[in-house]
Parts: sequence; structure tokens; C-alpha cells
Amino acid sequence: MPGTATDPIDEPAAAAKKPARAADAKPSTAAARLAKLGLRRSVDLVLHLPLRYEDETTLEPIGEAIRRAGMGLPAQVEGEVISNEVTFRPRRQLVVKVADDTGELTLRFLNFYGSQTKQMAEGVRLRVRGEIRGGFFGAEMVHPTVRAVTPGEPLPDRLTPVYPATAGISQAYLRKAIGGAMQRTPMPETLPQAVLRGPLAQLKLAPLADCLRLLHNPPPQESEAALADRSHPAWVRIKFDELLAQQISLRRSQAARREKNAPSMPRRAGGLLTKFLAALPFRLTNAQQRVVEEIAADMTHAHPMHRLLQGDVGSGKTIVAALAACQAIDAGYQAALMAPTEILAEQHYRKLSAWLEPLGVPVVWLAGSLKAKEKREAVARAESGEAKLVIGTHALIQDTVHFAKLGLAVVDEQHRFGVAQRLALRGKASDTVQSGGQQGGQPRPIDEKVAHQLMMSATPIPRTLAMTYYADLDVSVIDELPPGRTPIVTRLVNDARRDEVIERVHHAAAEGRQVYWVCPLIEESEALQLQTAVETYETLVAALPDLRVGLVHGRLPPAEKAAVMGDFSANRLQVLVATTVIEVGVDVPNASLMVIEHAERFGLAQLHQLRGRVGRGSAESVCLLMYQAPLSPTARERLATMRETTDGFEIARRDLQIRGPGEFLGARQSGEAMLRFADLNTDAWLVDYAQEAAVMMLEQFPEAVEAHLLRWLGGREHFLKA
Ligand code: ADP
Ligand code: MG
Repeated sequence: MPGTATDPIDEPAAAAKKPARAADAKPSTAAARLAKLGLRRSVDLVLHLPLRYEDETTLEPIGEAIRRAGMGLPAQVEGEVISNEVTFRPRRQLVVKVADDTGELTLRFLNFYGSQTKQMAEGVRLRVRGEIRGGFFGAEMVHPTVRAVTPGEPLPDRLTPVYPATAGISQAYLRKAIGGAMQRTPMPETLPQAVLRGPLAQLKLAPLADCLRLLHNPPPQESEAALADRSHPAWVRIKFDELLAQQISLRRSQAARREKNAPSMPRRAGGLLTKFLAALPFRLTNAQQRVVEEIAADMTHAHPMHRLLQGDVGSGKTIVAALAACQAIDAGYQAALMAPTEILAEQHYRKLSAWLEPLGVPVVWLAGSLKAKEKREAVARAESGEAKLVIGTHALIQDTVHFAKLGLAVVDEQHRFGVAQRLALRGKASDTVQSGGQQGGQPRPIDEKVAHQLMMSATPIPRTLAMTYYADLDVSVIDELPPGRTPIVTRLVNDARRDEVIERVHHAAAEGRQVYWVCPLIEESEALQLQTAVETYETLVAALPDLRVGLVHGRLPPAEKAAVMGDFSANRLQVLVATTVIEVGVDVPNASLMVIEHAERFGLAQLHQLRGRVGRGSAESVCLLMYQAPLSPTARERLATMRETTDGFEIARRDLQIRGPGEFLGARQSGEAMLRFADLNTDAWLVDYAQEAAVMMLEQFPEAVEAHLLRWLGGREHFLKA
């Protein structure tokens, strides 16, 4: 039970004034638990809104409640205890029977205290709430909420809020803490009248304070359905305010970025860029040319580029990044390219060093798997400025890594990184050290310039997400694949026909083609996934004695991983058994058959990425999606989508439809910035209004902007600066 004497919630203002005390005081466990929920300030509690409501305002006769049992709806009944015993079969439990004039109901408690037995002694009148099911003892409730009452004790006249909670925080405690916070926290309007009456007039927003009161404690006459599905006007107000905070914050970070300096990198005729283009074995597609121009123009400006390059799997984004790197290097700066996996980073390294080193550009590889000495060397070359292009994984953003003169930061498969990681790479430019002749000297900043940033992704962002999470990005799109690709044919194959699939593999290899065999995803257990991969590998080795088969998975030491990938790239292996480590970026144009086992377990985006590993050369490519029947309806829908289209944009659109934006973005992508109340499936229409209001407030009402951001984002604003 909560203590009553002290209020655990500190106002941040108070904490700021007395830092010593705040540091000394050991936070109470309740405060620590509330902090886990993000509830640090009174206003956070006030904005901690119910997840749902329980209707405890009515009682049903027991007989009636039993009749409509099985619908998954909770019931509230009242009755007298007619028996109370601890039984031992089928297991130890407390079994209490209550009855009224209309029927009898069994309550079962599997874990119980002795005191509960007494509380529910024979003859006591109980108010009981729970879900009725048919069970071992007939109609029963398992672990209902119970309370002893006197006959005729009044029912609450309002819906009872149920709050998001965490272990160790009871609903009763939260209700009390929130009630207290409501009492002491005035919630003055942050939206200026001019905005409410101007661009927002149509919304007819009610005052926030009223809406909060209503949501925490809904008056009896309010529509339960509208409260539950969050379409109630009070919810609309909350969602609007939340979206507004997000829009303001995005715009501010955009403006802040525009004010920062970045090195201007003019394109130099006859430089590296020209030589590189001349050495390329193919012509850029029109789409590639267009995006190259867009990026090149950004980099000539003295404020930082913040651009997302979208292009479907296989559309040729790497070369675009390489050209941007050439422009930076031509202008006397360094470039960095960060990729989410070692396999992908290593592949970029091989490809780009093969392209650029012959032109005299030192390219350096930096990854976690390097030996300490090699890593030190790589870091030293980045720091001295000798390395012109540094390629690697997360290792690039470690504190020990500094650049002499970083001008361009490229993040490949950006959706695989968190916001903080992407910011960290760009930030490597502002800890820039002076290069040359300072052996052993302390690095010292030479200026406050930040690097231009190019993010790349094959996962297109739907409009509503672009307007909310990515409002601060310029976007370039490659909407054309390089010529000469034959479309990938996708087939669904029942797992029972595995022998035919193996025959198919054999056939492809006999024609000089290479094959990927992707092992099933086993989310619950990495160990099991590994075991399956090894077993699949062994089965295929045995079934295909005349072929060379390799195995690659996440647990392989990086050097071995690289060796296997190298063998496959060089066509020394014909079949590569792999886990999802090959999901992104792997590029072996001679591979033309992809087998995905248990395809029903993968998400759409993942299947699309995997399939994109084939269809990169001129041979006709085939993707076999093996599945185990029966398929769930959503799995069926996913696989049908895969068979019907190879267009990544279309796939993303359907993926969004099937999963909704929350899951689509994933926690990593959105960081802490995830919207708590607004749901882009249903509330996208509010975003336009929020944008308009944000613009007007930023231009005319700076104080209102501050108040609004403080209320909604507290200290979390930086997470929005994608
Ligand atoms: P992604 O956009 O998926 O990262 P990549 O950059 O890996 O695609 O390119 C896929 C393949 O297409 C690579 O083998 C690359 O060399 C090749 N490629 C890229 N651009 C062209 C082009 N204009 N013409 C022919 N092949 C190209
Ligand atoms: Mg790529």
C-alpha cells in the first residue's frame, strides 16, 4: 500500500535549485518505479492517461452474468458466500462459492493468503468482478477482484480508469498519485487564442485541463465506446497536443541544423569524381544521375545536408554514396560509411576499396572484430587524416574514434540504427582534430562544423510517417533498377516438397549459378536457430555431394564469416546456407536462386530484403518461399504479397496496412519519440493541423512554444532530432 505522508514526485524546478539535496537523497522505490514509467514530474503524472476503463457502475444478477459468459467480457456481481474451502485437487487452491437469488458462481484463487480465506468467510457479502468461464467447477471466475461490502453499498457512478503500470506499482497507487498531481498542477492553455481560433477553428478543441479531468475521471454520461476507442473529443485534444509538440520539435531541430555550418564542397572538374565515373564499368541510370545531382548540390552548401536516399533493394545506392564520398574527398575532406552488420560493411569495404584505391584514395576498414593492433592503426589513420574513406560498423561511432576532417557521414540501411547512433556519426565532425605534425598532442577542436549526412534505406517511408518522424529530412528516390535485370519469379512451395527444391538447387548449380538457402527464423531461441542452420547445412551437404556448400550465421567469428562470404563471392561455394545475417546488402550477382525456409515466419520487409539478394545479374532469378501448412491469415496475406509484387514501395505499403505504423517503425527507429496517444492509423488527419499550428506558434508565440514543449517532452526533445 502506498505511503500517505510524502509525495514522491519532485518538481524538476525544485530539483534543479537544490542539486546537492537531490543527489544525496536516495529516491524512494515508489519514485524509482514511477520514473521507470517516465513519470518524474507532476505534469508527467497528469499526462499519464488511462489505457482503458472498467465499468464498475452496474451490477448484474449472477444468473444473467452466467448466461452471457464466454463472450470475453467482464462481469460485476454481488452475492453471499455460501461455501469456502481449500481443495487439493486438481491442485491446491481456494474455492469460494457465492450466490444470489438468481444463481451460484465459483471463485477460484490459485495463489492466496490465509487472510483472504477469512475475508471471504461464509455469510460475507462480496462484490466480485472478473470474467466468467465454464470450468472444472461449472461457471467460475479465476482470480476475480473481490471486495467485502455491506448490503446496498453504493456503486461508483463513474468508469474506473486503468493506467499503464509496471511491476510494483498498483492501480490504486497510480490513481492516488495522479489524483494528487491533478490537484496541485494547473494546466494552463498553451495554445494561443489566435491559433485556436485561426488554423484550428474547425477542430473546436476543448480546453486541455477539462479534457484531462474528463479522461482521468469520466462523468457517468460519457460514451464508454468513444473513451475506449479514443475517438472522444477529449482524446482528440490530447493527441493533437502531442502531435503539435512533435511538429514543433522537428521544426526547431530543422532550423537549428540550418544554422549550423558544414564544409562547402564544390564539385571540381577533372577531380576524383570524374576519374571514378570514367572507370565505372556501367552507366548510371537516369534515376541515379538525378539523385547524385541532388546530393551534390546539397554538399556545395555551407549548411549540413540531411538527406535520405531511398531506393529499392538492388537499385544501386552504394555507387551514389561512393560518388558523394568522392566529392568530399576532392574538396579535401574525409568521408565515413557506416553499415549495420559486419558482412555488409565488409562488402562495402571490398567494393569501394576496389573502386577507389586504384585512383589513389586510401580506404580504411574499421569494425569490432579487428585485432586491437589493427584497430589502433585504423583509428590512427582516421585521426591523422590519411584515411580518406573509413568504412565500418558501429565501431565507427565509438569514443576512441576521431576524424581529422570529416565532411560526409553516410549511414547505410539507416532504419537499422537508432536515432542516437545516427547522430553520433554526424557528430564525429565536430570533435574534429587538427591534422599533421602533432605527435602525442591533445586533439583540439578546430571549428564547430558538422558533417553532411546521407542516410540510405530500401524501406520506403509512408507519407504520414514522413510528415511526423521524418519531417526534418530531404528525400531523394531512386525509382528505377539498373538495366539488364530479369525480374525475380517468386513461388510458394509447401515444405513437403523439399526434395523437389533440393533438385532445383542441384539444377541451378549445374548451370553455373549460385544459391542462397535461408534458414528459418526462430525468434525464441538463438541457440535453436543456430542448431537448425547447422542441421540444414549438414542435410544439404549430404544431399548434394557434388556441390560445395558453405554455412554462415551470426555466431561465426567475424574472420570466418568473412572467409565464407569471400568464398561465395568468388564462386568457390555454390550453395550458401545462411541465417538472416545475409538479410541486408549482400551482393553476389551470380546468385540466382534463393530458397527461404519457413517463409511464413518472416515479416514482409525482411522477405523483400532477403529476396533482393538475387536478381542482381542477368540470369533469370527465382525465389522459393517454402512454408509449412496451415498458414495463418496474415502469413497467407504476406506470402501472397510477395508472390504478386517485387516493388519495394508496394510491399512497404501493404506491410504498413498489415502491421500498422507502430510496429512498422519499430522501437529502435522511433526511439523515445514514439507517440504515446496519437495513432497514425487513425489520427493522420490531425497532422496537417498540427503542422500549421506549429508554424504559426514558432513564428508568433515563442513563449507558448516553450511552455508546450516543456509540458509534453520534458527532457526528451533531443530524441526527435533524427
Ligand atoms: P542497393 O541499392 O540495394 O544497395 P547496390 O548498390 O548493392 O544496391 O547495387 C546492386 C548491384 O547493382 C551492384 O552489383 C552494383 O554494382 C550494380 N549497379 C549499380 N548501379 C548500376 C548501374 N547503373 N548499372 C548496372 N549495374 C549497377
Ligand atoms: Mg545496399
